[in-house]
Amino acid sequence: MTAPARTARSRRPLLDLSAKLVRRGYVCDYEVGERELPGPDKVLTYGRPALLAVSTVACVATDEKVVGLTYDDGPDPTYTPQVLEALAASGDRATFFVMVEQAEKHPDLVRRIVAEGHEIALHGIDHTRLSSLPIRQAIALIKDGKARLERISGRQTTLFRPTYGAQTVGQYLATRALGMEVVVWSAWARDWDGSDAGEIAQRAIGALHQGGFMLLHDFSGDGVGAPDPVTGEGLDRGEATRLLLAGMKRRKYTSRTVSELLAQYPAVRTVWAEKRDPNRPSGMPASN
Ligand SMILES: [Zn+2]
Repeated sequence: MTAPARTARSRRPLLDLSAKLVRRGYVCDYEVGERELPGPDKVLTYGRPALLAVSTVACVATDEKVVGLTYDDGPDPTYTPQVLEALAASGDRATFFVMVEQAEKHPDLVRRIVAEGHEIALHGIDHTRLSSLPIRQAIALIKDGKARLERISGRQTTLFRPTYGAQTVGQYLATRALGMEVVVWSAWARDWDGSDAGEIAQRAIGALHQGGFMLLHDFSGDGVGAPDPVTGEGLDRGEATRLLLAGMKRRKYTSRTVSELLAQYPAVRTVWAEKRDPNRPSGMPASN
């Protein structure tokens, strides 16, 4: 009898702290948007309250109809200009989490993104899953990626989104120590599953919520949605963005950059980490 009673007592302060953190907006509603969380882990389960105070940004807390559209994996000479034209036509601003290898191939596109009032942020050098690598190697890649991206953009890189959203606790802390905020997402359109532009826009519109960060792609490192070599047909990412922006306008939503939103509204944070798994493929399976 004694042991369970002691366990219950010792757990109460943790639960109280969790409730306080939830009330203060540190926890994102997991039901918002449609996404899967990394599997549970003992450190995260029992260290959750402590981790929440230093955890990853998923969206911002606001009642205003404002979102942050975010585009990962680019820039790409076909899709990025289409997305930029759609954004320019509607007057919305977005954040581009770029891959450095793509940015180095297309530095003119990086400069155009910045010149048109959007934000450049870091997604990685390539699409390697950093949580599969030894921590020193992962940190070295993040540090090198930040420096290389700053050389192209001429701007400080202050935001990082790990590929697949995959990070270990050590990787998170190292990223913050490099002066970057880690940003994941609270809504997505699954624009990697082979659906057409209309379906993707509908899904994105259905997932809109005040203060949400919407995960989209202006390129796909693994070729999902790329034009078929025979028919030439592929996902029209520019059209998906045009349809999404039209739906947002009907619902009176606008998009701004992640940094603008973080400067104006409280960040909503969530525990977002996984254990290092050297057996997980570190290459490019499918999404994010
Ligand atoms: Zn990605």
